[in-house]
Amino acid sequence: MINVTKSFLPPTEEYMQYVSAILERGWLTNQGPCVLDLEAQLKQYLGLPYLSFVSNGTVALQLALRALDILEGEIITTPFSYVATVSSILWERCKPVFVDIELNTFCIDAGKIEAAITPNTRAIMGVHVYGYPCDIEAIDALAQEHNLPVIYDGAQAFASNYLGKSLLSYGTITTCSFHATKLFHTIEGGAVITNNQSDYDKVSLMLRFGHNSDDHIRLGINAKNSELHAAMGLCNLKYVPDIIVKRKAVSEAYDLHLAGAVCRPVPPARLDYNYAYYPILLEDEAALLSVKEALNKKQIFPRRYFYPSLNRLPYLQEKQACLLSENVASRVLSLPLYADLSMENIELISSIVKEVVS
Ligand SMILES: *Cc1c(COP(=O)(O)O)cnc(C)c1O
Repeated sequence: MINVTKSFLPPTEEYMQYVSAILERGWLTNQGPCVLDLEAQLKQYLGLPYLSFVSNGTVALQLALRALDILEGEIITTPFSYVATVSSILWERCKPVFVDIELNTFCIDAGKIEAAITPNTRAIMGVHVYGYPCDIEAIDALAQEHNLPVIYDGAQAFASNYLGKSLLSYGTITTCSFHATKLFHTIEGGAVITNNQSDYDKVSLMLRFGHNSDDHIRLGINAKNSELHAAMGLCNLKYVPDIIVKRKAVSEAYDLHLAGAVCRPVPPARLDYNYAYYPILLEDEAALLSVKEALNKKQIFPRRYFYPSLNRLPYLQEKQACLLSENVASRVLSLPLYADLSMENIELISSIVKEVVS
């Protein structure tokens, strides 16, 4: 069976060494040595000044909204993402206002944001979808002009660099996910990346119930992560450069085999990509379903990343149309991509795709 992804796992002995040390210390959670070490190593590796390791990438988005004191109002966001981008906004009782995507990166169309700004707008929440950058310069300029904070959901952007810096370094706050399906993972986990001491202090307080010992300072939640999760991250981080080299080789093999047969996004040239996903765009939904079925028959399971377009979620109060996102969501498929996917299997997957589309 070939799934869309396969979690990277370090050599068992490497992880077990951390586990033994953790059990010996008996310090299992609450800002233990592995959590602190992972935070330090991630900041170093990604070149970031402030980073808080949290329990997942969804609560990271909720903390970002709370750190900016956004408790109501409209959040301008993209309909083309994983559901957590929008559900975190709704869970915080804010209103998502959808702006359609542009067709090179499938990220929010910066040129359409201004028209969606109202007196109730509280923030812009972009998503670096597949690890491709939003139009950061244009969004920054708009945000400054309208005095709005920018939150980037960077769940898929780990180790993507743009204009010589980590993609996670942009915006007022960026979040990341370290879920087992992501390029770098801690089984479950995520991070909130801030750009100043005061936002960092708020996040680090809120993620552990808002108190320092007996001093209760602000409303908080439990978004801490454990020593065992941090240890998985410490093991995996060493392998990230190697993982990216291998994923790049897989992507380039697909490029070669699929050239001319399918459409692909066109990320900007100044992106140093992390090869997190391999999305292909089929002619229409019928073609997508045929390709999916043909692959499934051979026990190959690509995923409809991302479907449905989130402006069509059934539990939204108000329906907003986003024609480009809806169109892309109806015909985009992410092919299996992981470090040790064999050239043989890449060839097999490509030949099935080509056979169906021709
Ligand atoms: C994976 C993902 C999330 C959610 O992260 P979890 O760690 O699973 O909570 C949020 N947004 C995007 C874009 C994602 O890909």
